[in-house]
Amino acid sequence: MMSNSNPEKPHEDRVRSQLEEMLKNADVKFMFGPPGMMPDMGSESPPVDSEDDRDTDEILERIHAFDLKPKEIRDYLDRFVISQDDAKSVLSVAICDHYNHVRRCLEDQDIAARDYSKQNVLLLGPTGVGKTYLVRCLAKLIGVPFVKADATKFSETGYVGNDVEDIVRDLVRMADGDTELAQYGIIYIDEIDKIANQSSHGGRDVSGRGVQVNLLKLMEETDVNMVSQTDILGQMQAIMAMQSGGKAPKRVISTKHMLFIVSGAFDKLSEQVQKRLGRQQIGFTNAADVSRLDSSEFLRQVETRDLIDFGFEPEFVGRLPIRVALNHLTADNLYDILQSSEGSVLRQYQSDFDGYGISMKMDDAAVREVALIASNEKTGARGLQTILERVFRDFKFELPSTAIRAFNVTNQTVRDPKSGLNELLVSNIALQEEALGAQIEAFAKRFSQEEGLDICFTPAGVKRLIDMGMRSRKSMRAVCEEHFKDLSYGLSLIARNTGKTSFKLGKQAVDNPDRLLAKWIRESYQ
Ligand code: ADP
Repeated sequence: MMSNSNPEKPHEDRVRSQLEEMLKNADVKFMFGPPGMMPDMGSESPPVDSEDDRDTDEILERIHAFDLKPKEIRDYLDRFVISQDDAKSVLSVAICDHYNHVRRCLEDQDIAARDYSKQNVLLLGPTGVGKTYLVRCLAKLIGVPFVKADATKFSETGYVGNDVEDIVRDLVRMADGDTELAQYGIIYIDEIDKIANQSSHGGRDVSGRGVQVNLLKLMEETDVNMVSQTDILGQMQAIMAMQSGGKAPKRVISTKHMLFIVSGAFDKLSEQVQKRLGRQQIGFTNAADVSRLDSSEFLRQVETRDLIDFGFEPEFVGRLPIRVALNHLTADNLYDILQSSEGSVLRQYQSDFDGYGISMKMDDAAVREVALIASNEKTGARGLQTILERVFRDFKFELPSTAIRAFNVTNQTVRDPKSGLNELLVSNIALQEEALGAQIEAFAKRFSQEEGLDICFTPAGVKRLIDMGMRSRKSMRAVCEEHFKDLSYGLSLIARNTGKTSFKLGKQAVDNPDRLLAKWIRESYQ
């Protein structure tokens, strides 16, 4: 189709549209944009703050001079993540070992050439207890790019789901195409338990095994091509670039220094471990103790053979030497998250209200109540957001249009937010009236400016309008505009007939503007 002997270089756009036409009905993935611009696979950017503006050179320099100690890392994690002490210390050590090794490889070619088992980590634990959050915080601390994907999105071939290598290309995308930085990034894969070869459980099997094998290669050390095999356009671009430059711009990235952290809830595995422990202890006095342990206790007892029995390939398990179970979050933990985590979702709500100039405070008892209700949701710290959303939904909608600039949330408000909001509005009625009065005045001023006819409301007229505004779901501006939609036409007519350009609007004008206008118009003809 295209050969180097052809003197005429194909125009890229023309080829692209021809390809698009050709492939319209073909079952292949077709991606636009520069290599690495892959469809979203649930990847997440590192938390943003000013530190993320550190330029790449500075981050690379820090990696080259990595000297953090596990306790320093744990202290940093403590600022954000509540509880999960085991996971914090295990991850802190794994991170230090990993980046120390990276530093030493950069310093000494001999070390780089030696075999090294990477400290890839397996996190076991239920949803919403901080697995992703821990990894995200670590990536932020080190300054490396971080990408998250669900193992269930991968398929063995990459034609149906995503190819496992896509995640490496995604990591490069998170590093703004900087392969030098991306090679030290952290890849986090959740739902890893779903790719176990659970033929006995009736789940996906053959494909799961294939994905494990592919992931294994990534976790060991492999070169990933920056252009996916299924990215036909990318392949064509590479060929064309080769034609024009005469040299293949084959960009690859090695996974040698990438850290892999995988995780899953592993519910079935904890049952399996429970059975094993039960069997081992049958006949002993503490058999009853086994049934009292909770699922995270069983996950703490996981051994390599449990993971293999669960459906993981022995080589795959072998590449995940570090395992740690995370615990369920109790109501007390959830309370601590709200009160003291630097990433507390309660702070986010406070900051949202701050955005309208409203200060929100929550009583200690109210925070306890939120934590208690959230713990019943059984979704870990995610429950906190669900409950706070329920509590604040109407407050967020109503309060910005009122004159209320501060409010306090009690546990009563948490239990019954609608009544809490009503009480707040009623107890601030004077403030509310003042705000509505100002909005009515603003309407009159706008009308005067736009129509060239002065209007002003009498105190009785203002009071009537405020009552209307309080009863309506609409803003005062919308109430006035709708209620007085014919005012401009009527008053202009009167002004033309009489020369009068200034009007006072009282109770009658508010109660029935049409009738009053009709009367004034009739009079203006006399
Ligand atoms: P998962 O364990 O399913 O990966 P995440 O880490 O994504 O859960 O948790 C969801 C959110 O809940 C986090 O972004 C964080 O705000 C909050 N969160 C979860 N666990 C904790 C924790 N132990 N301490 C503080 N916040 C937490």
